[in-house]
Amino acid sequence: MAQIKLQNVEDYYEIGEVLGSGHFGQVRAVLERASKVHWAGKFLKLRRSASSRLGLERKSVEREVEILQSLQHANVMALRDVFESRAEVVLIVELISGGELFDFIAEKESLSEEEAIEFLKQILMGVGFMHTKNIAHFDLKPENIMLADKTMPHPHIKIIDFGLAHCLKQGEEYRSLSGTPQYIDNDEETLKNIVGMIYEFEENYFTQTSTMAKDFIEKLLVKDPIERMTADECLVHPWIKPLTRKQADNRSRSSINMKSFKKFNAKRKWKMSYNMVWACNRLFRLQLQCKSRSPEDPELRQCESDQEDTETKPASLIRRRLSSSS
Ligand code: ATP
Repeated sequence: MAQIKLQNVEDYYEIGEVLGSGHFGQVRAVLERASKVHWAGKFLKLRRSASSRLGLERKSVEREVEILQSLQHANVMALRDVFESRAEVVLIVELISGGELFDFIAEKESLSEEEAIEFLKQILMGVGFMHTKNIAHFDLKPENIMLADKTMPHPHIKIIDFGLAHCLKQGEEYRSLSGTPQYIDNDEETLKNIVGMIYEFEENYFTQTSTMAKDFIEKLLVKDPIERMTADECLVHPWIKPLTRKQADNRSRSSINMKSFKKFNAKRKWKMSYNMVWACNRLFRLQLQCKSRSPEDPELRQCESDQEDTETKPASLIRRRLSSSS
């Protein structure tokens, strides 16, 4: 069971500015009063009642805490402390100040495959470590890959957000709908292509890409997980670890198509803002509805807890924490 303190977090930490927000709460800068060390606090709203759909189930928060406690690795966000009050759980975690990896890359004029591999290697080391503990992240996406300090010559990768992560048990099959649908395009044909593993390296985007990089991608886009490269196998693939001088030279000559990358990143950011505005508007309308009713109105109680889930949401807002396993 996760060690969760019942004291008031504010007795130990001074709460500062908002650093980011997710579906279940905010992440804020916090200052440890005793040591004057800066950390980040992830404030997670707890579900008020079993029937409510707002907030997180306590067991889901406990799972995130337990997983973070078991993952002490240079490329995984470290957990320092956990506090619980009636309404929320606060995770005190290491402060990651370098922003998202993709934003850092998008600011660059060029990026060779060799430079990209430096980042990828660190992601693979973090993921490989998780897998040695039988932990699957289930939500690896650009937003969850951050940099410890982007001003360093070789910035350090930190993997964040273990809200959907699961510790898998030997011999048990895990089935879940978890993930961020923003990256699961809801266009029917795209979905068919994903299920059927139908893809091609389009000329427009892949002219500057090395054959080794394409081989690496092909070995990951394999439906059967047994046949798919593991994180450790990825680390010894010749694209990541070249065997010959020629392979190494190819990597440094090949580069990332920055025009497409910047376009992709801008579109991703736009979608994220759209979803945030949509969610805020929805909550605002709900508050208005609640205020216009009497407190005795049973629907008012419903609207405080559940109603926001009754309307159709854009795909990216249906991110859920499911614990279904079979
Ligand atoms: P989501 O619903 O998007 O998965 P979440 O509620 O699980 O989010 P996180 O993804 O963990 O929350 O954090 C939300 C945002 O807060 C991140 O995208 C990031 O910008 C910021 N953030 C998270 N952890 C840290 C940290 N340790 N240091 C600095 N900023 C952070």
